[in-house]
Parts: sequence; structure tokens; C-alpha cells
Amino acid sequence: MLPYQTLEEAALALGRNLTLAERLWYNYSAQKSDFLLYSHNALFMIVVFSLVPLPCAFMELSQSKRMAEFKIQPNIKISFSDMFNCYKHVMKMFAFVLCPLLFVSFPAIKWVGIHTSLPLPSLWEVLSQLLVYFLFEDYASYWFHRLLLHSQWGYDKIHYMHHEYRASFGFTALYTHWAEILIFGIPTFFGPVMVPCHMITLYLWTSLRLVEAIDAHNGDTAIASKPMKRASEEVAVNMVEILKDISSLKGFKRE
Ligand SMILES: [Zn+2]
Repeated sequence: MLPYQTLEEAALALGRNLTLAERLWYNYSAQKSDFLLYSHNALFMIVVFSLVPLPCAFMELSQSKRMAEFKIQPNIKISFSDMFNCYKHVMKMFAFVLCPLLFVSFPAIKWVGIHTSLPLPSLWEVLSQLLVYFLFEDYASYWFHRLLLHSQWGYDKIHYMHHEYRASFGFTALYTHWAEILIFGIPTFFGPVMVPCHMITLYLWTSLRLVEAIDAHNGDTAIASKPMKRASEEVAVNMVEILKDISSLKGFKRE
């Protein structure tokens, strides 16, 4: 909730007229509690997760030959029931893990200084904070994934679930064991904790982070450049090799 009763009072406190974006934010947020504004992150994540994978999902279901050339694993078909079951699992994760995690983290978010107040950050400030968050998250997630989740214990107890589908698609971005959601919450929130931001920047961060995860799992390279396609193919080949190694170590067959 903003500490100003009117727009004029806010302008007086800032010593200048409010920008259009600040007036819009004031009108939207002035009477809402910080907890309610923070809860919007859950809403944005659910909307992003439900909508962003759809274009690639429709392309997959249409079985178009033209689109098959962009797929990393063109011989593996994903059915509607595969997608729907995956989506249902992730919705349960939202309901029982992600949303409660967001809600209980509110006091910590307040404590570190993430705020809803005016003035709004400049575009430069938002972009530089997002860059720092992405760099840290990418680096930490890589090592969490490699050292913890692909260790024998981590894979058998937690990460096996994320690799259950033979070919990934957008909805598998969050198809994980509940513990994996908690583990990846650490690198995701470390950036905003270390470099506190405005709530609007946090909305952008949680949404863009999820878009990035969906893009990394969508199983095709329709919107990626050629170097990205090559890198994705290399990752896919490496993952198959890693899974083969783990399967032979455990003495079980995993498709
Ligand atoms: Zn993995």
C-alpha cells in the first residue's frame, strides 16, 4: 500500500509530476496491500505457464511435417494426454508447493527491501537488475543441476521425475518433484534478495524466468537461431548419454 493519499501528495513527495507509468501504478496499487501485490507473482506465473507453451504445443499436435524439421527429436510424438497429464501435475505443484512458498516468503521479501513504492525504477535500473538475476540464476542452476540433481542420490530421489518424458515440451519445464521446485527457488530468488528491486521488476523477473525455462524445454528450435539449435542438439545428445550411464549403473531400463 502506498504512503500517499492522493496523486498530488505523491507528486509533492517526489518533487515532480508523476510519469504515466507511475500514475498507472499509483491508481492500481494505492489501495492494495503489499501482500496482495506480492501474490500477483503467483498469478503471473500461472498465466505465463498456461499460455506460453501453447503455440509449440499446437504445432506438435498438428504433426506438421514443416514443423518437424525444427524439432530436436523429430521421431518422438507427444500426445495430447501427455501434455494434459503434465499440465495437471504442474498445477498441483502450483497449488501445493509454489503458491505456499511464495506466500510464506513474503516477510523475507519485505525484510530484504523489495518494495511497491514510488518512484518507479528507471528502465536502465530494471534491465541491469534483470541481467544480474539472469546471470546468477543461470550459473547457479547449472551447478545445482549438474552436481546435485545429476548425482546418483539426487537423480534417484528427486530428479528422475523431470526426465520421465522421453522428449521434453514446454509444459515439462516445471514437471518436477516438489523438492526440485524448492531447490530451484534458491537461485531464482537469490538475485532479488542480494539486489532488492521494485515489485514490478519482480513481476518481470518471475515471468521472464519462467518463459526462459519453457523455451529451454520446448523441444524445438522454431524461434531459436542456428547456434542455439546446435547447442540444444548437443545438450540433448549429452543428456541421452548421461541417462544411458545412469541406467547402466542402476541396472534398470529407462526409455
Ligand atoms: Zn537433468
